[in-house]
Amino acid sequence: MRVRVLGGAREVGRSCLLVEALTANLLLDCGIKKLKDTEEYPLLNRRIAETLDAVVITHAHLDHSSFTPWLYRVGYEGPVYCTHPTAELMEVMLRDCLKVWSERRMLAPYGLRHVEAMEENVKRVRYGESLEVGKLTVTLLNAGHIPGSSVVVVEGEGRKLVYTGDVRLENSRLLTGFHKTMQENLDLLGNPDLLVIEGTYAGEVFLPRHVYEEYFVEKVKEAMGRGGRVLIPVFAVERAQTIALTLLDLMPGLKEVYVDGLARKINELMTKLHEEGWIRRPFPKRVFTYVEDQATRNEIVKAKRPLVVVSPAGMMDGGPVKFCYLPSFLRRKEDLVMVVSFQAKGTTGRKLLDGEINHNCEVAETRFSAHSDHNALLKIISMLKPRKTLIVHSEAPEYLAISAKRYGEVVVADLRGCYPV
Ligand SMILES: [Zn+2]
Repeated sequence: MRVRVLGGAREVGRSCLLVEALTANLLLDCGIKKLKDTEEYPLLNRRIAETLDAVVITHAHLDHSSFTPWLYRVGYEGPVYCTHPTAELMEVMLRDCLKVWSERRMLAPYGLRHVEAMEENVKRVRYGESLEVGKLTVTLLNAGHIPGSSVVVVEGEGRKLVYTGDVRLENSRLLTGFHKTMQENLDLLGNPDLLVIEGTYAGEVFLPRHVYEEYFVEKVKEAMGRGGRVLIPVFAVERAQTIALTLLDLMPGLKEVYVDGLARKINELMTKLHEEGWIRRPFPKRVFTYVEDQATRNEIVKAKRPLVVVSPAGMMDGGPVKFCYLPSFLRRKEDLVMVVSFQAKGTTGRKLLDGEINHNCEVAETRFSAHSDHNALLKIISMLKPRKTLIVHSEAPEYLAISAKRYGEVVVADLRGCYPV
């Protein structure tokens, strides 16, 4: 068995791994990397697509899932395995992708009929359920990153591969962390021949979550106290809900909180997911004002009173943040842009934080990461005891590689790199 890295090497975006075994070929994740004005796709081609027996999607974030319908454009007809929340979230998010491409007159890599073809082939799996692909057994387990997110175990032909996808070790307000999965499934997860691990926060150590939350509350209060508006750019999945729950728990008296974009649809989906046991707590139905039309957006843009807007895109390169709110918030010195999400290189959010974009408003940053920090990643490696570790999904993989050496062989994945399992 071997793994070929088709995306997500020394970068955060377009995750895609090809697993080539004697009896089956599997694709793990198939995402698009979104940059300021462009997109990058995984290094797939028709020939690779023809050899696939199955596709597994770890979670619905676009950098892991949104290139999948392209496979159906080039003739793939096999299954896509994922959890129920991943399937539900992809349904909403992929249609939103199509809308964005059409609105911006961008060349779309696929159309609605390919999304529909994919949906007909989606097979929803439960955590812990075993799938047979050729002589490989594939199992998905809770990764604690976003609702439905999975760590994938591939066993067979005398080998074991574990792929973390995106993983969070600790609990969050919304989800149970991967620590519990490890405790309960160490036999299945432990001693893999190859562990492919994400390294989004390689080299960075987080403070306890409550410290970031307290800073967040202080900044929001301060801005509103001086009559400012607060813009919180979020990823529509997980971050929008985590921020909503944080505002609800820690600032219950807040009057004007607007939730915009895809976050609204996904907040609604959360209620259903809680009933089915995929998230830790019930999601509040209508505590916030959902922005339903352009008139409300225009009103917020002109408003000169304290209010909070929670809206995608998390890295500020799309959604109502880019096309509506950001320019107006940047102009007013009373306002605050509160960064609560990872900002990849080359994005508007990164540039704003690095002082490359002029602004009069205050810009503050705190951490509500759905990932594991450097120490948590090391803990995962030390608990799973892999024979070899391959680091993907990271802009600074060397930091993790250096620290992880004490637990065995470590390799930083290169694009097109091929690694035996
Ligand atoms: Zn993710």
